[in-house]
Amino acid sequence: MSDKKMQVVFASAEAAPFVKTGGLGDVAGSLPRALVAAGADVIVMVPKYGTIASEYTDRMEHVADFYVSLGWRNEYCGLERLVIDGVTYLFIDNERYFKRDYPYGFFDDGERFAFFSKAVTESLQHLPEGFQCDVLHCNDWHTALAPVFLREFYQGLPLYERVKTVFSIHNIAFQGQYADTILNDILGMAHIPNAARQLRCDERSINYMQGALDYSDAITTVSPSYAWEIQTPEYGEGLDGILRRRSNVLSGILNGIDTDAWNPATDPMIHANYSAADMSGKKACKAALQEELGLEVRDDRPLMVMVTRLTRQKGMDLVTYALDRILSGGVQVAVLGTGDYEEPMRYFANKYPGTCAARITFDNALSHRMYAGADMFLMPSLFEPCGLSQMIAMRYGTLPVVRETGGLRDTVAPYNQFTGEGTGFTFANFNGDEMGDAVFRGARLYWDDHAAWDQLVQNAMAADFSWVRSADEYMNLYHNLHPEIDITKPEPVVQEPEPAEPTAVEAEPAAPAPEPAVTEAEPAPKTEQAAEPADDAKAEAPAKAEEPAPKAEPATEPAKKTAAKKTTASKTAAKKPAARKTAATKSTATKAAEKPAAKATATKPAASKAAATKTTAAKATATKTTTKATATKTTAAKTTAKKPSTASATKTATKSTTTKAAPAKAAAAKTAADKPATAAATAQKSTSTKTAPKAAAAKTAPAKASTSKAATSSAAKATAKPAAPKATAQDSSAATPADKPAPKAKSVSAAKRTTRKR
Ligand code: ADP
Repeated sequence: MSDKKMQVVFASAEAAPFVKTGGLGDVAGSLPRALVAAGADVIVMVPKYGTIASEYTDRMEHVADFYVSLGWRNEYCGLERLVIDGVTYLFIDNERYFKRDYPYGFFDDGERFAFFSKAVTESLQHLPEGFQCDVLHCNDWHTALAPVFLREFYQGLPLYERVKTVFSIHNIAFQGQYADTILNDILGMAHIPNAARQLRCDERSINYMQGALDYSDAITTVSPSYAWEIQTPEYGEGLDGILRRRSNVLSGILNGIDTDAWNPATDPMIHANYSAADMSGKKACKAALQEELGLEVRDDRPLMVMVTRLTRQKGMDLVTYALDRILSGGVQVAVLGTGDYEEPMRYFANKYPGTCAARITFDNALSHRMYAGADMFLMPSLFEPCGLSQMIAMRYGTLPVVRETGGLRDTVAPYNQFTGEGTGFTFANFNGDEMGDAVFRGARLYWDDHAAWDQLVQNAMAADFSWVRSADEYMNLYHNLHPEIDITKPEPVVQEPEPAEPTAVEAEPAAPAPEPAVTEAEPAPKTEQAAEPADDAKAEAPAKAEEPAPKAEPATEPAKKTAAKKTTASKTAAKKPAARKTAATKSTATKAAEKPAAKATATKPAASKAAATKTTAAKATATKTTTKATATKTTAAKTTAKKPSTASATKTATKSTTTKAAPAKAAAAKTAADKPATAAATAQKSTSTKTAPKAAAAKTAPAKASTSKAATSSAAKATAKPAAPKATAQDSSAATPADKPAPKAKSVSAAKRTTRKR
C-alpha cells in the first residue's frame, strides 16, 4: 500500500451553498466534506454560475486558465479556487456558458454541459501541486460526458492512465438526450465509431447518461433499492438494459442529511427544542403548529404532515384519493408545498376546517416547524431515488408513512407489533387504500398504545442518517478501484498532513460505515396491546376514533404472509452481493453479509422491506398504474386484480429462497427470516377484501381533476426537459432482474419529467 491519500475530483452541476436546485446540490455540498473527514483529498468542480453570491466569488483565487476544444470551437476555461472546510472547490469559469440567471433550462444546455464535462477532464492537468487525481467522480447527466472524453481523448496520457471514473445517478429521468448532430458539431466524436455507437440511443439522438453508463468504471445511485429498481423497465427510463448489463459495477449508496441543520435539540426555527431523552418540547411544538395552521389544538388527534413538491411522483394521486377517509377518520393533515396539486389541497382544507390545512408555498422555516410539530409524515411516492424528507422527519421523532420504493424502502423500517421494531409505517403498492391502511395503522397505535408509539419514536430518532456512513461506503468503492491506496481513517482532523493513529475500530482497512442506528436500536418490549385492527372501519368514524382498537387477527396468517415477504426480501437483497462480486466489491449488501452478526442485523429492516411484493406486485403495479392517465382508477383495478397473484408469488418465493441462496445470500436470508411477522401483513390482508368496493370512490372529482391536470402538464413539460430515451436494443441484454420486459411505462416517464426541477 502506498502512503498516498485517495485523491478525488468530484464534478457536479450544483453544490450547496453556491448553487442548489435539489438533492444533487445537497449531496455535492455535504458528501465531499464527509469524504475529507474520511481521509480523502477532494476537489469539487462546479460551473461558476452568475448566480453565485459575491461573498464567495470575492474570495475566489484564479489558479489557471486554458482553452478547451469542443468540436470546431476553442473555448476559454478559467479555474477559480475556494477552500471551505478542507474541501477545495474549483469553479469552471466561462461567462458565455455560465454567467446566467439559472443553472439549467437553456436551449444550449447540451453544449454548456458538454463544455463543462470536457473542461473537468482537461482540468485534471491543471490541479494544484501534489494533487494527482485517482478517481473522477461524476454526477448526473451534466457531467456524464467526462468519462467518455477521458477514455477517447486523454487515455494515452500518463496522467490519465491511473484515473478511474465513477458515475452517480441522482435522477435517471434526466439523461441529457440531444440530436446526434451534436456528435460532430460539439463533441467532435462522429469519427470515433466506438463513441458514436455507445452514445447513440436512436437513429437521430445521442444520450449523455448512456455514454457514462458504458464508459465509467463504477456506477452508483442514491439508494440500494433504487439501484435495483432502475434495472427494471418500469423505473429504468430506457436505460435499464445497460444497467442490467453493467450490474456488476452498479451499487446503491444512501444519501445522508445535514444532521447539524436538522437537529431538534438545537434548531432555532422550532417552537421548543427537544431530544430523544426529553421529548416534552415536541408536545409544545405540536400545539404551536396546530394553532399556527388553524387546526384544532388537540393532542388526541394525530397530526400528519407533508412537506413536498405537490406532484405525481410524490404520490399526490393517492393522497387526494384517500384524504376524505383519513380526515373523517380523526387524523389531522397539514400540507406544505407547491406544484400540480395545489387546488385539490385547497379544496380539502376548505372542506375540513380545523382538521386539514394547506400552505401552498415554499417556506423553509415552516418546514422545520412542521417536521417538529407533527406526529406522522406522509410520503407515498410513486418513485423515490433516495428522499431526504423522511429522514428529516425521523430525526424529529415524526414517524413516516411511506410507500416501499427506492430510498424510502431503505430508510424506513416498518413497525413490527410483536417486537416493537421499526421506525415508521409502510405499504407496498401504489394504491390509495393501502396508503390509507398504513395511515390508520399509525393512527391506531397513536391512540391505543402510547408505550409502543414512544418506542417507535425513539427508534426513529436513533437512526443514523449522517453522511459519515455514506462517505465510508464511497471510500470503499474508491478503494476497490485503487486497492493500492490505503484508506484507513485518520483522526477527525480534516487537514492533518499525515493520517493520525487510527483507533481500534478504524484500524481495519475499508472498515464498513457505522450502520444506521435505527436498525441496531434495542427492540422494544413486545406490546400485545398494539395489535393492529383487522378492520379500520372503526378508525374511519370520527366519533369512535379514540376508542380502543379491535383485537388483531390471529398471528398465524399475517405471520405466514410476512414470512413470505421477508424470505423473498432476503432473496432480493442477497441477490445483489452475488451480482456484484465481480466488481470486487463492497456493495452495500455485500458488506452487510461480511459483517458480524450484530451488524448484519443492521440491514434487516431494509431487507425486510424489500419484499417480493415489490418484485412482483410493485412491478405489475407500476406498469399498470403508469400506463393509465388516472391513477385513482388504476388503483381500483389493480387492487382487485393483483392481490391473489402477489400472494402466490410470495409463497413461491418462500419456497425457493433458501435453496438458491449463496453463502452470503443465506446469511442475509437468515437475518430477514428470523424476524417476526409485521403488523403490516395483517392490515394488507384485510385491505384486499375491502378495496374493490372503494373503486368507485376513486373517481371523485378532485382527484380526477388533479390527475388529468398532472397528466396534461406532464405531457406539455416533457418536451422542455431532457427527454428520456426510447427503448433501445440494449433492453434485450441480460435477464435479471426483469426478465420479461414490460411495455414502457410512458406516463411514469412523463410524471418524472414533470416533477423535477432540472
Ligand atoms: P425531492 O425529490 O424534492 O428532492 P427530497 O425529500 O429528497 O425530495 O427533498 C425535499 C427537500 O425539500 C426536503 O428538505 C424538504 O423539506 C424540502 N421541501 C420540499 N418542499 C418544500 C416546501 N414547500 N417548503 C420548504 N421546504 C420544502
